[in-house]
Amino acid sequence: MAKSALVIGGGPAGLMAAQELLAQGLSVQLMDAMPTLGRKFLMAGKSGLNLTKDEPTPLCLTHYDTNRLSPMINAFGPRDVMDWANALGAAVYTGSTGRVFPKVGKASPLLRAWIAQLVDQGLDIRTKWHLTDTNGRSFTFSTPDGPQSVTPDVTILALGGASWARLGSDGTWPAILPNVATAPFAPSNCALAIDWSAHMEKFLGQPIKSIAMRAGTQVSRGEIILSAKGIEGGGIYPLSPALRQGERLIIDLMPDWPADKITAALTRPRGKNSLSNHIRKTLKLDPAKLALIREFWGPLPHSPEILAQVIKGLTLPPLPPRPMDEAISTAGGITWDALDDGLMITTMPGVFAAGEMIDWDAPTGGYLLTACFATGKWAGAHAARYAITGGSQ
Ligand SMILES: Cc1cc2nc3c(=O)[nH]c(=O)nc-3n(C[C@H](O)[C@H](O)[C@H](O)COP(=O)(O)OP(=O)(O)OC[C@H]3O[C@@H](n4cnc5c(N)ncnc54)[C@H](O)[C@@H]3O)c2cc1C
Repeated sequence: MAKSALVIGGGPAGLMAAQELLAQGLSVQLMDAMPTLGRKFLMAGKSGLNLTKDEPTPLCLTHYDTNRLSPMINAFGPRDVMDWANALGAAVYTGSTGRVFPKVGKASPLLRAWIAQLVDQGLDIRTKWHLTDTNGRSFTFSTPDGPQSVTPDVTILALGGASWARLGSDGTWPAILPNVATAPFAPSNCALAIDWSAHMEKFLGQPIKSIAMRAGTQVSRGEIILSAKGIEGGGIYPLSPALRQGERLIIDLMPDWPADKITAALTRPRGKNSLSNHIRKTLKLDPAKLALIREFWGPLPHSPEILAQVIKGLTLPPLPPRPMDEAISTAGGITWDALDDGLMITTMPGVFAAGEMIDWDAPTGGYLLTACFATGKWAGAHAARYAITGGSQ
């Protein structure tokens, strides 16, 4: 009889683990607390499902905060993600920045095709099965039919991080796994909270483009959006680790102009123009950028040298992150020391972990999903070997 595998968590990591376990000939059950699978994956599709980054694997690996992911992403990297999606019929394209998206722009066709393929291969899916307890061998769920326990040969936990609880990843699982070392969850790829003054109101909702940012030793280029609650967007997300440490956000509002070129332009006679018109005309600085200077520096300085310095390095006060539940991803989770090289939890023989529930961090840009797919596949392959060989991987 085929060995049995239990996957708990039906996000991208759990589904990829199930795919690998099925490919290795195991009989696989997948349980998820929610009424349907992949809810966060579908939410990711609403803002354009960025599946991976079309770049060589060694470059891709530089975007993660740990080299423990290297074997997994070397085995299933950006090219593999693209080939996999294409093979599922969800043709992908590479955007101008190298980001890879499904051509249809959303996640649902890919997710539907993926689940249909897995069911076709024999995957037994149970939804509304909420893991409540385990002794390391048996797993107990609350289900619509009352409590149920399952005792598989191997198990993969893919319970996600701790944001967007309403989509299923509520981050409560560390309480179910008291013997597994975890690092506290922390928001990543998240907005910063700002209590704007009234004069900023007309700029809220606007993007601030073509800027460079830094926090501590981290740098980033991109755009930010001024939202009613603060600032968000791809430009600040890569700085999350430094911002979490309390580093201040410093914005270069004209990264393509050196300070002396700005000073020289501002020194030109301004005639009857007001200072802000003079700045607008000589530097083509858009009104939202000027408003940011007023918000965080104060009245526009008359000295061209000082103004140039402010434009090149507008320093924001320490800003708290928005609540963790709003974050695109979370750092923290099962520590690498608690896992062996096959992603088996060392205190729970036969139980493996995958996806965002492991303690790694990366910016958006396809790196999150790539690591979820790669760890799912890796954990699935090692769990299959463990089950088939009766205890070695
Ligand atoms: C708005 C948004 C946009 C995003 N955009 C992108 C993007 O474009 N590109 C990118 O790379 N990443 C993106 N991400 C991040 C990406 O979606 C996640 O990193 C990824 O979904 C994590 O996958 P996972 O399988 O580890 O966990 P999840 O997808 O969170 O899945 C975990 C599953 O476990 C289940 N579960 C949890 N606890 C239990 C329990 N006790 N019992 C049973 N089941 C349980 C949950 O119901 C859930 O289905 C985005 C995230 C958000 C919120």
